[in-house]
Amino acid sequence: MHEVTVTQDILEKALDAAKVNNAKAITKIRIKVGDFTGFDPGCISFYFELMAKDTIAEGAVLEFEKIPLSLNCSACDLTFTPEDFPLSFACPACGNTRNRLVSGKELSVEDMEIDV
Ligand SMILES: [Zn+2]
Repeated sequence: MHEVTVTQDILEKALDAAKVNNAKAITKIRIKVGDFTGFDPGCISFYFELMAKDTIAEGAVLEFEKIPLSLNCSACDLTFTPEDFPLSFACPACGNTRNRLVSGKELSVEDMEIDV
């Protein structure tokens, strides 16, 4: 997915939620973004500003919460965050490489502030 698609999705979700709450304006949107998505918050903010023009979300501040990449080892059940570069997905305790992604791929609208 590209930042444009993701931004469109964030804007649509925010506008839908605003409609339900009879909001006059959206002032702030909190977004969770996983480190492993590769999405650049600066880039999303940039597209958002363009797309939100002439909607009630125009001028809204986007606040990003970065979620670190976290893996769970299928052999010893250790949950760890790969930190070396290049990233090693092997378990630091037992070396197993068949691990489950616990977090780091999320992108969701968490919360928002509106004027009613
Ligand atoms: Zn392990």
